[in-house]
Amino acid sequence: MINQKMLELGSKRSIIREIFEYSKIRANEIGKENVFDFSLGNPSVCPPQEISDCIINLIKNENPTLLHGYTSAQGDQTVREAVANSVKSRFGCDVSANNVYMTCGAAASLSISLKALLNENEQVIVFAPFFTEYTVFIKNAGGEVVISNPKENTFQVDLVDFENKITEKTKAVIINSPNNPSGVVYTEEKIIKICEILNKKSAEYNHPIYLISDEPYRELVYSSVKVPYLINYYDNTLVCYSYSKALSLPGERIGYIIVSPKCVNSKEVYLAVCGAGRSLGYVCAPSLFQQVIARCVDTVVDVSTYKENRDLLLDNLTSFGFKCVKPDGAFYLFVKTPNNDAFEFYQMAKKHEILVVPCDDFGVKGYVRIAYCVDKSRIVNSLVSFKNLAKEYSLI
Ligand code: PLP
Repeated sequence: MINQKMLELGSKRSIIREIFEYSKIRANEIGKENVFDFSLGNPSVCPPQEISDCIINLIKNENPTLLHGYTSAQGDQTVREAVANSVKSRFGCDVSANNVYMTCGAAASLSISLKALLNENEQVIVFAPFFTEYTVFIKNAGGEVVISNPKENTFQVDLVDFENKITEKTKAVIINSPNNPSGVVYTEEKIIKICEILNKKSAEYNHPIYLISDEPYRELVYSSVKVPYLINYYDNTLVCYSYSKALSLPGERIGYIIVSPKCVNSKEVYLAVCGAGRSLGYVCAPSLFQQVIARCVDTVVDVSTYKENRDLLLDNLTSFGFKCVKPDGAFYLFVKTPNNDAFEFYQMAKKHEILVVPCDDFGVKGYVRIAYCVDKSRIVNSLVSFKNLAKEYSLI
């Protein structure tokens, strides 16, 4: 018999993918411009010109067998140096190439980090609302998911609930800020308190509890709000970074893990990361894109388009009576459904050709996610439908 868990995972598409597939079918029926698909977190802003120029330049001028060949498993030395130098100069922490492990994006960074840290049945705390794939990655690494509930009106971490969820079996905590799906950035004050609790509990249970900072949206912020760099706040930190959103390269699969040099037994943790990458069959991160990163390490997409989209959607939806927290980052609005029924809302919205993601699986009931990484015209054209939807719920 084949592995039933894997069969189940493969047979049951994520709701987001399900909606995305429906969207394509519906677009064939009524025309793409008439389907207001807000389901997928696929960047709508082009990668910076510098990236395309760099790719062309590399292909024209570099030795193709080297450019497309295997690299060291942890990534090319010069690439890791470029990443370490960039992090050092941006955040002032003392990381070196020896702390950097290049990956195939944040999903790989997370699965590798979890596999490196977890023993069978150890627990990982995730802060709701959370990216649903965490459940898959944690379970695949033999761990157990523990959900910490948020302060509902702000979606900041509820420190009391968090502390209560920590047990002797807690091995790691995942922080995702800016957050998918709420767009919330955790305040520095909260981060400091979270770290204090983790230090206290690590001492109490006499083993390190690791902090995994999942930060594909770090660069996508729309105000002067600070996104604390966790290595500067907590020693036992692993940073899981990705260029999928920062450079609009999600299909190219490139990112990295940084194991903080201040981790207890940092070298061993790094070696376990190498072992986990090996055991999961990653071999090395894409070679061409490692070289692109080495040359464009401080480049980021123009986020002004996302900010415009956020403001347009947020202003209109709130004027129609919908409720949501103002997101400071990422490219999602997390909207409270009027009847506290996410699936019902999803179906009602679908009747108006609006596709949003019901978020019960994200750990908070009664919310939908609207991904505004779309052409502005889609938002503008959808507003009448959103207004009609609000009328159906008697919000206006
Ligand atoms: N973590 C979060 C919070 C995400 O939203 C995503 C993708 O949307 C990922 C990780 C995976 O990103 P990547 O495409 O870099 O694997």
